[in-house]
Amino acid sequence: MVGIRARVLVADVMTRDLVTLSETATAKEVATAMSGKAVGSVVITKDGHPSGIITEKDLVERVIARGRDPESTLAREIMSSPVSVIDPRADAMEAARKMAKLGIRRLVVVDKGMMVGIVTSRDILSTAPELMEVLADAAKNRIMPSKRGESLAGFCDMCEEWSESLEEVNGHFLCEVCRNETEP
Ligand SMILES: [Zn+2]
Repeated sequence: MVGIRARVLVADVMTRDLVTLSETATAKEVATAMSGKAVGSVVITKDGHPSGIITEKDLVERVIARGRDPESTLAREIMSSPVSVIDPRADAMEAARKMAKLGIRRLVVVDKGMMVGIVTSRDILSTAPELMEVLADAAKNRIMPSKRGESLAGFCDMCEEWSESLEEVNGHFLCEVCRNETEP
């Protein structure tokens, strides 16, 4: 039975314990939420949509190492943005490829506009070790992530509307409507 294997879906490997906080939460609140819920990252939201993500590493590098005050530093100042999303019905392989392409290690899982979980490269590896090679590329790409041609989710820099198909145009993240408007 060569070439036949069970499909591993994002829903099978994702973590459902999603911790979310608003952009105006403080770095201290982010850290408290992480330790209280025993999670390694928090999804930052704006108007109910994921607008960024903060990991333990971000707290160390962007707050502690820079000597910033955790009680006055806001989530929106230290989050990585925009976020990249994936459908729970997508193949875990597709999630791994997307992470590799973007040079990131986690994707927010969105089902019909609702955040339902988070999937990390570690989640994928523990369930589908054969994807190791795809994910190894992610580590290499981290140095120079190429976001061109890859859709991200977030708020459009121009119209400020939520979009799941943001693309980078000259350093700005634009939705499909604004991209078409700026075309010569
Ligand atoms: Zn727009």
